[in-house]
Amino acid sequence: MAGKSDRIIRDEIRALTAYHVPDASGMVKLDAMENPYALPEDVRGEMAALVEHAAVNRYPDAAAAELKTRLRAVLDIPHDMGLVLGNGSDEIIQMLMLATARPGAVVLGVEPSFVMFRMIALFCGMRYVGVPLAADFTLDERALAEAIETHAPALVFIAYPNNPTGNLFDARAIERVLERAPGAVVVDEAYHAFAGRTYMDRLGAWDNLLVMRTLSKSGLAGLRLGLVAGPAAWLDHVEKVRLPYNVGVLTQLVAERALRHHDRLAEQADRIKAERGRVLHELQRTRGATPFPSDANFILFRVDAAEAVFSGLRQRGVLIKNVHGAHAALENCLRVTVGTPDENDRFLAALREALA
Ligand code: PMP
Repeated sequence: MAGKSDRIIRDEIRALTAYHVPDASGMVKLDAMENPYALPEDVRGEMAALVEHAAVNRYPDAAAAELKTRLRAVLDIPHDMGLVLGNGSDEIIQMLMLATARPGAVVLGVEPSFVMFRMIALFCGMRYVGVPLAADFTLDERALAEAIETHAPALVFIAYPNNPTGNLFDARAIERVLERAPGAVVVDEAYHAFAGRTYMDRLGAWDNLLVMRTLSKSGLAGLRLGLVAGPAAWLDHVEKVRLPYNVGVLTQLVAERALRHHDRLAEQADRIKAERGRVLHELQRTRGATPFPSDANFILFRVDAAEAVFSGLRQRGVLIKNVHGAHAALENCLRVTVGTPDENDRFLAALREALA
């Protein structure tokens, strides 16, 4: 049966293993950088009323006008900048690449970083070049400058803070990337809620700066809403590759309503940040674990035998992410999302048992 598909499906797709999402039923789920808190009850009540009356027999507003107005106000998107919405920022990455995938065009990223930069480049038929970070996970400026010079990338992706390392890169180093890059530099601020640093207010200072955000880490992962803001000279064209109804009726309604309560989401982010400090401190005093500092809602840490510790945690009902094997710099590293105080305690107790 495989004969025809083998000839037709692209070699690079056949060679892939599909992105694996592990089953987390019944587990303490600390693997995917979700916000562990449900929305406040009154906000959920407002959403229920909205959903009751939603016109799901109609296609959504293709321009998502109300949602965009709310996003501009809440995220401080400069009024003279373009804005494109996606079904998660994953889809934004895909749109940016679809719009720039000339034959031979290059996407440049740092390594280790968010794996979808590489994956989606492959889906779109672009060449991906990964520039290793320095040993302390900072940007290797010389290597970056050389790679930009050699490959003239259409797109450069910089996650700020970076996933899975959790750190913010030096702002001056990013500025030099912006100055050197012949194409767009996408600053991916997925973890902005926990970092407090942004390039949103610098949009326009470089004609090639684009800023990407998502609502996924702030309590709305299930809605799937991401965005990119930047000069119209880029985004007017990116908008053309956006499928007309990519953001559904329910997502538009519910996200717009949730954003009216952005102060409540920000309170949850503050609680997560406080817990991040506590978990980091606890990891520092756990023998056999070496955590890296984080500006995001997760913590990367190194152990002696990641595989064994990961399955020891799983046997104890705690699911985190094993990033060992994803990149040489992540040898024996695990990544834990910051959860509620109770979830974090269960993680820390299970970890100490698994390490013992
Ligand atoms: N960028 C980074 C750096 C991420 O870590 C993630 C999620 N893991 C995303 C983008 C994608 O987020 P989403 O598609 O949920 O918006």
